[in-house]
Amino acid sequence: MYDLAIIGGGPAGVAAGVYAARKRLKTVFIAETFGGQSTDSLDIQNWIGIPHIPGPALAKALEAHLREYASDIVDLKAGERAATVEKSATGFAITTQKGSYEAKTVLIATGGSRRKLGIPGAEQYENKGIVYCASCDGPLFAGQDTVVIGAGNAGFETAAQLLAYAKSVTLLNRSSAFDKADAKTVEAVRNHPNMTILADTEPVEVKGTMFVNALTVKNTKTGETKDLPAGGIFVEIGALPATGLVKDLVEFDPFNHIKVDPRTQRASVAGVWAAGDCTDGLYHQNNIAAGDAVKALEDIYLYIKSGS
Ligand SMILES: Cc1cc2nc3c(=O)[nH]c(=O)nc-3n(C[C@H](O)[C@H](O)[C@H](O)COP(=O)(O)OP(=O)(O)OC[C@H]3O[C@@H](n4cnc5c(N)ncnc54)[C@H](O)[C@@H]3O)c2cc1C
Repeated sequence: MYDLAIIGGGPAGVAAGVYAARKRLKTVFIAETFGGQSTDSLDIQNWIGIPHIPGPALAKALEAHLREYASDIVDLKAGERAATVEKSATGFAITTQKGSYEAKTVLIATGGSRRKLGIPGAEQYENKGIVYCASCDGPLFAGQDTVVIGAGNAGFETAAQLLAYAKSVTLLNRSSAFDKADAKTVEAVRNHPNMTILADTEPVEVKGTMFVNALTVKNTKTGETKDLPAGGIFVEIGALPATGLVKDLVEFDPFNHIKVDPRTQRASVAGVWAAGDCTDGLYHQNNIAAGDAVKALEDIYLYIKSGS
């Protein structure tokens, strides 16, 4: 019986693992991979304390940090994927493809993935101009033409950030209504001289040479197509949280994120916490994921020591 099971090897899971080791909580750490989503990023510029780090190097650094402190306290199960987490008589049972583990408490830090564009050229130019995060990659496109795909709040917030440095920002909305974003968020960008909003427009093909240089778009009403010049294409069409393993255990928001109390990261069932991109937290970033996990560990420690 472990005190804690941590599931996930991104910044949230690893931060939790380091804190668990230092607090000497007997922990099983189950992670299919180390590093998480930004492992694909060529240059992460906002991991605090390190001005530039490629995603694969961040993944290695996270793994090394955990291994340095794991000792005989954190039992690393790297390469294992947790399939289910269920309540047991004494706590929780976690099943992976290799075995099952019992723990008094569980921290879910399984993150998620971005919904991808399923159009010709999209796979080829992934991370070669097709990106998913304005706070992460926006500055790389300073002075360039950019396109934002998606007209929800995330799309408009991305546009707002890009307007600070891009030459132009064109936002595509599949319909003619702007009912997926708050009116205030839309107004904040709509009248900027470098901003264009194309309604009833969908992306058709990503074009480029080494990197993206254009996006072919189609007007869904007239069928007319045209090429928009684009150095960067920011895809904001939703995220897919990796929360299936706890679907019968805890409450989700309408987008399958785990609902948590933002002060403690507690989920809806006593003994379960969640941190990072798998939660209904408003903002998702590496530093936030790590911070959420630290918050959770402080609370888990008190829970285990005090029993509530
Ligand atoms: C391309 C890209 C670039 C980004 N760049 C930046 C950036 O520059 N700066 C920034 O702050 N943010 C960036 N982000 C956002 C950032 O990556 C996320 O906010 C962050 O990774 C969330 O961390 P996490 O630990 O919650 O989850 P994740 O990073 O998604 O990690 C989840 C981990 O859980 C593991 N896992 C999932 N399911 C299971 C399971 N069932 N069993 C076992 N293990 C499992 C995965 O293998 C993975 O290790 C970027 C995102 C993308 C997609």
